[in-house]
Amino acid sequence: MSKKCVIIGAGFSGLSVASYLAQAGHEVHVYEKHDMPGGRARYFEAEGFTFDMGPSWYWMPDVFDNYFSHFNKKVSDYYDLVRLDPSYTVVWPERADDIPAQLDKIKELFDSLEDGAGDKLQKFLDDSAIKYKVGTEMLNDMPGFSILEFVKMDFIKNLFKLDVFQSMEKSLNKLFKHPELKMLLEFPILFLGGTAQNTPALYSMMNYADMVMGTWFPKGGMHEIVKGMHALAEELGVQFHFNANVEKIIYKDNKAVGLSVNEQSVKADYVVASCDYHFTEMKLLDDTTRNYKKDYWTNKTFAPSALLYYVGINKTLPDLKHHTLFFDTDFAAHSAAIYDSKTWPEEPLFYVSNTNKTDARLAPEGSENLFFLIPVSPGLEDTQDIRKKFFDKIVTRFEEHVGQPIKDNIVYYREYAASHLIEDYNACQGNAYGLANTLMQTAVMKPKIKNKKLNNLYYTGQLTVPGPGVPPSLISGQLVAQEIIKENKL
Ligand SMILES: Cc1cc2nc3c(=O)[nH]c(=O)nc-3n(C[C@H](O)[C@H](O)[C@H](O)COP(=O)(O)OP(=O)(O)OC[C@H]3O[C@@H](n4cnc5c(N)ncnc54)[C@H](O)[C@@H]3O)c2cc1C
Repeated sequence: MSKKCVIIGAGFSGLSVASYLAQAGHEVHVYEKHDMPGGRARYFEAEGFTFDMGPSWYWMPDVFDNYFSHFNKKVSDYYDLVRLDPSYTVVWPERADDIPAQLDKIKELFDSLEDGAGDKLQKFLDDSAIKYKVGTEMLNDMPGFSILEFVKMDFIKNLFKLDVFQSMEKSLNKLFKHPELKMLLEFPILFLGGTAQNTPALYSMMNYADMVMGTWFPKGGMHEIVKGMHALAEELGVQFHFNANVEKIIYKDNKAVGLSVNEQSVKADYVVASCDYHFTEMKLLDDTTRNYKKDYWTNKTFAPSALLYYVGINKTLPDLKHHTLFFDTDFAAHSAAIYDSKTWPEEPLFYVSNTNKTDARLAPEGSENLFFLIPVSPGLEDTQDIRKKFFDKIVTRFEEHVGQPIKDNIVYYREYAASHLIEDYNACQGNAYGLANTLMQTAVMKPKIKNKKLNNLYYTGQLTVPGPGVPPSLISGQLVAQEIIKENKL
């Protein structure tokens, strides 16, 4: 029988779960507190500039292809993808390297920094290819209910290939000596919430995603993915309710029976919370219906928060590429500030996205749209003085790299930090990307997707399986929908 499923939140996971459920014949309503879909991937326009607010890296294009093809659609039905070349630029203390889209050229770069490193990179990526294949098949199929899923998934057979018990640091140290090469291979895990010491080498699958599958960009911006998924959901019959703030999950006995939305009650047969897990538990439920107590969250390692600046300048920077990583200060010190001392970094690493380099429509003619991101420890209190201080720190280094001053050319400036992530997304400690990908927070160790007391309440999103990032959030929606669909074969 068709069920009325209500979804809290229209981020990637909410859009995904909604579409799968609607396709299976259920009546689906999505309640979203903002006036647009996208969640952390919303966008805004100001002074002729268009800014993506959150994600800017389009990796793992196969996940998006699989998503749309499940609905007999293609990515190109909704947006145009461009492969970036160079994929990105890395700024080191003494020079900058463009990381080309072609693996052979990346290997040449590795050889130029360390004898034989090109062949070693090939070996490392051959192993990461297996991890990508086995790991994504496995993680994408595991709802994370029980350790038995590992047995069922033939996990033991693949255990050694997956390198689950070796850290990324050890795995890299065995192959490379040059610190910059190691940093290059560590950066995907730092940005997605981990350190090389505490992240299993399994996640070198992200290096395969980076160096083999490539860095892509949807013309118009990352929010074009959201627009596409929203359009598809509507085609499938999903009903969206924007400016709809969910205040409570209403339950009776062992069932969720609806939501309180903008002080009105809404009935439901199923509730799926795609807003942050901690918020759902602590604010939308009471202590008799939560899966986890408060302590559970204090003992978790969150992925970083982010200090962001959306900046428009009225001059052009011909030497700047679409993505630039500033690794010109101490990588280990920044990482320690995030995960060990949980303090503001002294000399932060940062990242700049300049999307009008790939799509000129995203900034007025003769201008540049700049997005600066500093990964920082979650839970730090930010003030305007702190935000300003950090902008001043990084802009000087940015000016050195682009070879021109920009401070006097700023025509648009907006700051965004942990306090905004909390206000906008109810993000625990202002986290940007959910939980860090440590071994103890992988697969079956993630917060469970089903409530243990209310048997029709599910959780999806970056804090659940498979983890943080846009592609995993899409998969997370699919995993939850599969469970509800299984329970209700129409
Ligand atoms: C700055 C930044 C940069 C990032 N960069 C990348 C990147 O380059 N590549 C990548 O793959 N990933 C990146 N990520 C991570 C990626 O954006 C997330 O993993 C993904 O968007 C999470 O989707 P979600 O559906 O789990 O959560 P969300 O996007 O947070 O969606 C949850 C939704 O629930 C809504 N909501 C919350 N509370 C309520 C309520 N009470 N009532 C109604 N609605 C509510 C929120 O408004 C939101 O729309 C980045 C994230 C950030 C913040």
